[in-house]
Amino acid sequence: MTCSPYAGRFAPSPTGALHAGSLVAAMASFLDARAQQGLWHIRIEDVDQARTAPGAAASILQTLAACGMAPDGEVLWQSRRNHLYEAAFAQLAQHVYPCCCSRKEIADPDAGAGSPATRNAPAVYPGTCRSGMACGRTARAWRVKVPDFGAMEECIVFEDRRCGRQAQHLASEAGDFVLRRADGFWAYQLAVVVDDAAQAITDVVRGVDLLDSTPRQIHLQRLLGLPTPRYLHVPLMRNQAGEKLSKQTGAAPLAHDGIEKSLLAAARLLGLPMDHPHAPEDFWRRAVPLWAAMHPG
Ligand code: GLU
Repeated sequence: MTCSPYAGRFAPSPTGALHAGSLVAAMASFLDARAQQGLWHIRIEDVDQARTAPGAAASILQTLAACGMAPDGEVLWQSRRNHLYEAAFAQLAQHVYPCCCSRKEIADPDAGAGSPATRNAPAVYPGTCRSGMACGRTARAWRVKVPDFGAMEECIVFEDRRCGRQAQHLASEAGDFVLRRADGFWAYQLAVVVDDAAQAITDVVRGVDLLDSTPRQIHLQRLLGLPTPRYLHVPLMRNQAGEKLSKQTGAAPLAHDGIEKSLLAAARLLGLPMDHPHAPEDFWRRAVPLWAAMHPG
């Protein structure tokens, strides 16, 4: 049997500058690729132009370079790949339907649809528009069907390299999910699956906040006949209130003159036994074998 050569990626949404939290995901994916002598790609996930901050992508790329993380090959921009998402969407036609339900209708069970989310997913969509939209209403989005409600064998099961065996019953835990919005924007779930396959990604390494998205992505991979990569979800950097560090929770952009300390903080969160700050070149020379010992391929 031949194994595909390792390919990993860091896939930031350019909603703001790189901060201590996003550095953790970047670092973990970079370390894993280097530990396995693989390729490491950068993909700017700018499908949702409304969330894209001007200058954020350029600033993220500069900070990664300052941290000594150079990608193998060209940076890929999702906003230039509409034709690929369009083709995948067309391929899924028999599994997709238009939906007119508003967020409020889905989130408020008394409004006749949906139940609150129990995991990191939007409220579970109960399939209201599966057999057609109510008369006179217009589509807000297109949803893909998940396997019907029922037996546990309909769970999507996968083995996470850090978190172990995961199982999610898509119908009761996620529901039919959005692939495209009426304003034309592609959903993250579709774009990420198309691009992970197009870039021949063998190992997805990212924050544990996306663990619950993985079964939806595996469902799409199966419908599209694409391979499922291996997954490794890493811990999140949190603020003092215990919230995931993000632009919304007040994360500061990484200061280029404090890179050594930022690298050390991210490494410690990832469990690497490092005590002192090091300049990037020295840092990676030490960190790669430590990661390799903790996460054999
Ligand atoms: N673009 C996503 C984010 O910035 C990450 C996507 C992924 O790694 O699959 O949260």
